[in-house]
Amino acid sequence: MHFRKEITMDNLNRRGFLKSLGLVSAATIASETLWADAIYKGSSIVERDAVSRGPAAKLINGKAIRPEHEIKIIRDTDVLVVGGGCAGVVAALSAARAGAKVTIVERYGCFGGLWTGGMVLIVLATHSNEKTGLTKCVRGIGDEMLERLKKIPGGIINQAPGKRDPTSDPEATKYIMACMLREAGVDMLLHSWVTNSIMEKETIRGAIFESKSGCRAITAKVIVDTTGDGDVYAAAGAEHVRHIHKIGLVHRLGNTDRIKSKKRMGGPTPHPSVKWVNMQGPPGDCLDVEALTRCDVDGREAIWNKLKALQEQPGNEKLFLLDTASQLGVRASRTLKGRYELKERDFGKTFEDTVGAGGAYFGIKVMCQIPYGILVPEKVDNILTAGRCVAADNLMLNFTRLIGPCLVTGQAAGAAAYLAAAQKTSPRNIAVPKLQELLKKQGAFLG
Ligand SMILES: Cc1cc2nc3c(=O)[nH]c(=O)nc-3n(C[C@H](O)[C@H](O)[C@H](O)COP(=O)(O)OP(=O)(O)OC[C@H]3O[C@@H](n4cnc5c(N)ncnc54)[C@H](O)[C@@H]3O)c2cc1C
Repeated sequence: MHFRKEITMDNLNRRGFLKSLGLVSAATIASETLWADAIYKGSSIVERDAVSRGPAAKLINGKAIRPEHEIKIIRDTDVLVVGGGCAGVVAALSAARAGAKVTIVERYGCFGGLWTGGMVLIVLATHSNEKTGLTKCVRGIGDEMLERLKKIPGGIINQAPGKRDPTSDPEATKYIMACMLREAGVDMLLHSWVTNSIMEKETIRGAIFESKSGCRAITAKVIVDTTGDGDVYAAAGAEHVRHIHKIGLVHRLGNTDRIKSKKRMGGPTPHPSVKWVNMQGPPGDCLDVEALTRCDVDGREAIWNKLKALQEQPGNEKLFLLDTASQLGVRASRTLKGRYELKERDFGKTFEDTVGAGGAYFGIKVMCQIPYGILVPEKVDNILTAGRCVAADNLMLNFTRLIGPCLVTGQAAGAAAYLAAAQKTSPRNIAVPKLQELLKKQGAFLG
């Protein structure tokens, strides 16, 4: 009610203001009432220095030199999760629910990463599909998230017993993720881009990040790198592998049920008139900003050209481009050199240090147990990873990067981070049976 009152007041002011200028008729203003923005006289201060950006770089002999300066530490926490994609959100939830003080830092303005901002909507590898029937592999927090989406009209399809690989709505997913993080008491920082690590010899102690508030730091007992690109473990000096993979711009088409064409326009979504279109795109280096820029610009042009050709077919005039993903579809950039590297031959194998399992993928029907070793670097202490940048070879990263397995590794990394922080040790030294016990308590399936 308070909000409604404020809008009415603002529009009255606006009406009076514009009328006094004789710019528009009262009728025009009245028709704007619900849609137009309002004039607001906020507060303002005059400022000379940037808040906490640190001193400006100096141009010395044609080189830009950044002076050494102190960075403000704004939090000291048990677990710092960097990257709020599906793996990061589940990691933060798992650690917080176990009892850790958790901060999650995300560079964009919402959670979900490629699942939401990247508009990848179908959650694959949720079940194995053997002769004995379907076995749900993604349980625990990931499945709870999918079940929460079911309660929102238009939130998800195919999330039901006997079905697999559900498709969710990106807005509903962003919303549910933020709700779950808030309920678990996770400290959230959006619009914050982690640029480096804070090190003490081979041990990571925190991360620094840039935002509109300047350059700041967070220290933590354990850091979980869920940036998808391994930005933090790379900055901390952990050995990793660089990959070239296909980069696409995912998008959605609207009015797909109001056209004549029988051609498959894309994958189904929870909304009957909307299809989501996965784009393979050209191979590229996901860590090269010029390559990323080209993929965005070329991808957009390709989408508009294809749309135009479709719209020109009689009966297709109502088809329109609903939206393109705000986050470019980068599939693989860095994977960790972990204590173990997952390979395709590991499907169907059992691991003593299993922390979860992923289901059927691209023709392979058996489940794949996920060993703890793929989350832990060979050398650097106090850090572990989850999601699409875990340790897997060229082929197998096409499995570990799917949303289903990312939800699973996220939960495992969060639980392990909690244990390491509570025991004041490195994730490399925790007792795996204790981790497995905690994961089972959290409803996870270990395969
Ligand atoms: C085009 C395409 C199609 C795909 N199709 C499917 C499919 O059909 N089904 C399926 O299951 N999977 C599919 N995938 C794979 C899947 O979507 C992703 O691999 C998965 O969502 C990755 O989750 P993640 O949490 O590991 O990483 P991401 O989703 O990449 O999340 C990483 C998060 O970290 C943030 N971040 C990154 N760097 C920093 C930083 N330095 N500081 C702060 N924050 C940072 C990002 O903004 C992002 O939110 C597809 C992927 C692509 C690109």
